[in-house]
Amino acid sequence: MTLSPQFPEGTLVAVLTTEPLDRPLDYKSPEGGCGIGDFVEVPLGPRRVLGCVWGAGKGGFDLSKARSVSSILDIPPMREEMRSFLERVAAYTLTPMPSMLRLATRAPGLMNPPSMRKVYRRGDGMPARATEARTRVIDALEEYRGLSFTLKELAEIAGVSTSVVKGLVEAGAVREEDSPRDLPFMRLDPSRAGKELTGAQAEAATTLRAAVAREEYSTTLLKGVTGSGKTEVYLEAVAECLAKGRQALVLLPEIALTAEFITRVEERFGAKPAEWHSGVTMTERRRVWKMVGAGGAQMVIGARSALYLPFQNLGLIVVDEEHDQSYKQEDGVLYSARDMAVMRASLCSATVVLASATPSLESWANVEAGKYTRLDLEARFGPAVMPDMRALDMREEKLPSTRFISERLAAAVRHRIEAGEQSLLFLNRRGYAPVTICRACGYQIACDHCDARMVEHRFLKRLMCHQCGETKPIPDRCPSCDAEDRLAPVGPGVERLGEEVKALFPDAKVAVLSSDLFGSARALKEAITDIAQGDTEIVIGTQLVAKGHNFPNLTLVGVIDADLGLQGSDLRAAERTFQLMRQVAGRAGRAAKRGEALLQTYQPEHPVIQAILSGDEEGFWRAEAAERKMAGVPPYGRMAGIVLSGPDLAQVMDVATAMARNSRPLQSIGAQLFGPAPAPIARVRGRHRVRLLVKAEKSAPIQRALADWAAQVKIPNAIRLQIDIDPQSF
Ligand code: ADP
Ligand code: ZN
Repeated sequence: MTLSPQFPEGTLVAVLTTEPLDRPLDYKSPEGGCGIGDFVEVPLGPRRVLGCVWGAGKGGFDLSKARSVSSILDIPPMREEMRSFLERVAAYTLTPMPSMLRLATRAPGLMNPPSMRKVYRRGDGMPARATEARTRVIDALEEYRGLSFTLKELAEIAGVSTSVVKGLVEAGAVREEDSPRDLPFMRLDPSRAGKELTGAQAEAATTLRAAVAREEYSTTLLKGVTGSGKTEVYLEAVAECLAKGRQALVLLPEIALTAEFITRVEERFGAKPAEWHSGVTMTERRRVWKMVGAGGAQMVIGARSALYLPFQNLGLIVVDEEHDQSYKQEDGVLYSARDMAVMRASLCSATVVLASATPSLESWANVEAGKYTRLDLEARFGPAVMPDMRALDMREEKLPSTRFISERLAAAVRHRIEAGEQSLLFLNRRGYAPVTICRACGYQIACDHCDARMVEHRFLKRLMCHQCGETKPIPDRCPSCDAEDRLAPVGPGVERLGEEVKALFPDAKVAVLSSDLFGSARALKEAITDIAQGDTEIVIGTQLVAKGHNFPNLTLVGVIDADLGLQGSDLRAAERTFQLMRQVAGRAGRAAKRGEALLQTYQPEHPVIQAILSGDEEGFWRAEAAERKMAGVPPYGRMAGIVLSGPDLAQVMDVATAMARNSRPLQSIGAQLFGPAPAPIARVRGRHRVRLLVKAEKSAPIQRALADWAAQVKIPNAIRLQIDIDPQSF
């Protein structure tokens, strides 16, 4: 509530709501007036909905019909920079504003005042009798002056029983108060000393600290192999940001990585950061949302949607593993969290740090263009060095089609077991076998709803569709020709690889790491801890193990199928394979022991495989950049995918064809149109998907053209149109 309201009582204000309406609605300002950015509750039909005051009302209708804002919510108004951010993301991704407001208010119960509970803070009095336990409570409260704690928290921090606290309440030294449930987070202390940095690390840290201290927008690509100390270095930037009294946000690509990271933050700053991702409970989400907005959370670590939290004073955004594909949202609002982080930071004079061992071509190109600064951490911390990389030419191996581990790879694993070291066998395929084929008629079992084959999961004893998640029992008879016992698995998945490893090394301790083999994030975390402690001899894993974990005793990485990602026509395939292979190989030899990475391939002479082996990254990027420039695709050109989907393929095709025929808005900006063609996944959950690809010059106003184009075609209700700017595959 503002002192002198911008919109006095009774004037018309435009309120943006989370309801799917095409524009903000006019309401009368409530008693006492309201201001721009105020969060409000407004009546809509028979309901009350959440809204945000977006500006002056448009009017132009009978004012006596206007309804009033029901109430102003007791949360800080949305800041101007946030409103601009939401509008810019909406304009860039062609997303309706109500969806943006929904993203920005994804916390439960914002419209209901929280229930109260008893909290404790320092009172004025001193205890008559100062026992050691009582002194500890007073000291704890002095240390966290201004903060309130629950009884349990306070007793825990002070290391006393709750009765000691209650005694102090009676003595007047501690005050008991009613407080809303949303408590601030413990203070992080940026003045605590970090690890002693090496020369290169210290230099990078100094540069980043200076960037943060300027409190101006800038983006830095922090490049260094896994284990080179990037995290150590960007924690220095976080320290500078906190010392400036500004908030810091660290984005991680995978929830599985947060636990380890939180421990490091706690060691560094003496308290835990706030967390924001799908694994956070509803009550905690609400607390984080409110505390970020009230300044009671100094640091947030989270998934991409944390970008839409209501930071009061955001000074730093770190995007760790910035090349990771999971930063691109593929559902709902389609945005790249990396790019939106840069946009958000530019609006609030914050620093962005993009950290990666294998940067995206986009970031590499932005460095070349002078838009980002680049910092390199060349060596690994301590004695660790990048592993020796070699290709194993599978054409020489003559393996039967039911075996996937070459003689040479098996020998290398045996060697490591004898040396008391760990090996990782990497295969980016969940389940037992990617294909189940009938050996009588050749039929391959496919999903009933998707254009995808069912993957056998022997552990679950079921077939599963990796597109829609549907499972069904493994049949005894072929669904097509009814032959009995003729269904056979073809190709390897990690579970099948596990079987082969057990046959080859019956006495070895083996762990298969695949997301669907673990019931919970905690079980997975425990398995990862076990591996890090060195008990496991052979780890078999999917992409899950490629990211960020630290296994000091792991010295051999065997890539089962290095060619896997190079199939298909996707122009990003080379970049992705290069990143993934370098990332996986980086798992080997992180401590004092030299590592080795062996890549099983049928095409060792392939330029991408050659680049991976030689480690000539700059050469690879330059070649890749030249190719993309030639093709006029991102990051040197603009692309957008329009996916039309619906239950009836003919109808979807009709709409797509009509769109293709009416492409004048695209021609007017010189854009090229490809398709319609089946989307990369042509059917999902019973909906047929057809894609149109648009390619334009980098500077072309593609959003406006796309909006005009989509607006001129009538889209039947059964059909959904989704616009994907900067699609992941093209
Ligand atoms: P990255 O983020 O590049 O993978 P990390 O920052 O996680 O690297 O560092 C890898 C490991 O080395 C971590 O366990 C980290 O604590 C340790 N480390 C890095 N730099 C130092 C240092 N200067 N002093 C002590 N330990 C360090
Ligand atoms: Zn399916």
